[in-house]
Amino acid sequence: MRNWRSQGVVCWLALMAAITFNASAQAPLEVTAASSQHPLAPHTSYYHDVSGTDDLAATRLKLAEGAFKPLPDQNPSFGFQDGAFWFHAQVINRDSPDDRWLLVQEYALSDRIDVYATYADGHVVHSAGGDHLPFSQRNIRYRQPNFWIDVPRGQAVNLLVRVQSESSMQVPLRLYAPTAFIEQSRDAQFAIGLYYGILLALFTYNLVLWLTLRDASYFWYLFHITAFGVVLFTLNGLGFEYVWPDSSWLADHMVPLSICLALVGMQQFARNFLELKQRWRFGDRVAVGIIAFFLLLFVAAILLPYRKVTPLASAAVFPSICWILVETLVVLRRGYKPARLFLLAWFLFLLGTGMFSAIAFNLVPKNFITEYGVQLGSALEMLLLSIALGYRYAALRNENERIVREARDQLETKVEQRTFELRNALVQLEDAHHRLSESSRYDGLTELYNRTHFREAFEHLLSEARTSNRPISLLMIDLDHFKKINDTHGHLVGDDCLRWTSNTMAELLAPHGALLARFGGEEFIAALPDMDLARASAVAEELRQGLNRRPCISGNLVIPVSASIGVHSVDITARDSIESALQVADQALYAAKAEGRDCVRTL
Ligand code: GH3
Ligand code: MG
Ligand code: MG
Repeated sequence: MRNWRSQGVVCWLALMAAITFNASAQAPLEVTAASSQHPLAPHTSYYHDVSGTDDLAATRLKLAEGAFKPLPDQNPSFGFQDGAFWFHAQVINRDSPDDRWLLVQEYALSDRIDVYATYADGHVVHSAGGDHLPFSQRNIRYRQPNFWIDVPRGQAVNLLVRVQSESSMQVPLRLYAPTAFIEQSRDAQFAIGLYYGILLALFTYNLVLWLTLRDASYFWYLFHITAFGVVLFTLNGLGFEYVWPDSSWLADHMVPLSICLALVGMQQFARNFLELKQRWRFGDRVAVGIIAFFLLLFVAAILLPYRKVTPLASAAVFPSICWILVETLVVLRRGYKPARLFLLAWFLFLLGTGMFSAIAFNLVPKNFITEYGVQLGSALEMLLLSIALGYRYAALRNENERIVREARDQLETKVEQRTFELRNALVQLEDAHHRLSESSRYDGLTELYNRTHFREAFEHLLSEARTSNRPISLLMIDLDHFKKINDTHGHLVGDDCLRWTSNTMAELLAPHGALLARFGGEEFIAALPDMDLARASAVAEELRQGLNRRPCISGNLVIPVSASIGVHSVDITARDSIESALQVADQALYAAKAEGRDCVRTL
């Protein structure tokens, strides 16, 4: 033990000598009663052990040999690196009453951190941290790795910190007096709580909207903000603290996994919101390609080492968001108004995330704006997106209302047009119907009324006669020996004769207001309203003689035609039926035939 200690003293002296005479060593950090927290960077020199094999003793030799260099621009970020990095700083407590200080590695993702504190008496205190050790081993239950360092008043301590990590090599070490740490962690927790509070409120609000409206955009928004929330939860160490405190696998892999999911959500949300499929086909195809890329990367992140996938995923974030900006600009130029807020939201997000990615690749220095740019940018972005969703919903609703209104107007015009056409068709139909019923009333050959119409019209006349108590008579007319005409001159001449005789009869009976019809064959019937038997017989006689006087002319043939006529006056008081009246008239005609034809008879 004593031996070890004396060896330690020798080492310490060697170290002191090395520091004193080595130009590359930084000035020691002097803590005083007036100071309570210090960034270590200005007092730190570093050495990159590329193979990662050097132990404490080997590294001390390196330090003594002057292999340690000051931090470039006092910036402890080196991007993704192989092997291990060693950092050296000397801390001297001049007159601070605090004997114990907390060394905090203010970057949560480092895998393994070893802190060696060497004191003047040569003894070395070693503590280890990082997310490859269980969370419960931390000195203080805090999302970032932390180590108690004893620096009693008036004493000095040499710190050698070894960091090995698959993640980006960022080692912003800070030394806190206990009270100062409590104060700053309160503020930080409050800010983080506020951020997740905003995220949770936006999540809940949009979840309700999605459940009510079932618009896919809301779903992808929820997907995006959840995945992005998980990214930040992982990056700031809260995931390891609260969700997977014993899983170094998740501590590593959740970074690329959540980045891939967040990017898939982002692209899907943009595709949906901007209606890319309809508005910009090419942009949509590229977006689908980006989504496929991140899905593949997601699978690769499960199967391949963290170190291979994470730099790729981090690097792909930037172009992916840039593409969303391009999509938004194109769609905006094509007149899609909801894209305006969308553009602003993504611009802010791009700014924040861009700065964060730039820190990971050591492109910009770490300060409040760059470090919290993601939180600031993303909180604003998600708020704006939520507003943009509302705006888009209102725009869609207005558009729908416009379409419905237009459709209704068009429908009204169409209905009017159809009604007009229908009315026209009805008029035509009525006309056709009228013409049809007209034609159905006439006999095709003689153009006199037919028997069916005669019955209807006669019934009407009969009821009129009954109401007015006036007589009405019937003439039953049959052409004599008509068969002979047909036989002699042929049927066509017979037809001519029928037409001729019909015209003559119509002409002769017209002055008497007679209703004349072809009863069938060469037989006719006439109703004479307002005429008793005597007057009707006189008219019949007149008709018979008229026919005699006007022989039928067909071509150059002159064919004499005669008719036998039966007369009957309908007994309107006896309520004769039409049938019986016709029968009586027919009997009178039969009598005329029997008595030699070409004569008028009554019964
Ligand atoms: P009656 O003096 O006894 O009445 O002798 P009829 O020859 O006139 O009488 P019948 O009943 O024996 O013959 C009627 C003829 O009328 C027979 C038929 O060929 C003819 N006829 C009936 N309808 C038409 C027609 O539409 N056109 C022509 N050409 N002849 C017709
Ligand atoms: Mg006849
Ligand atoms: Mg006949």
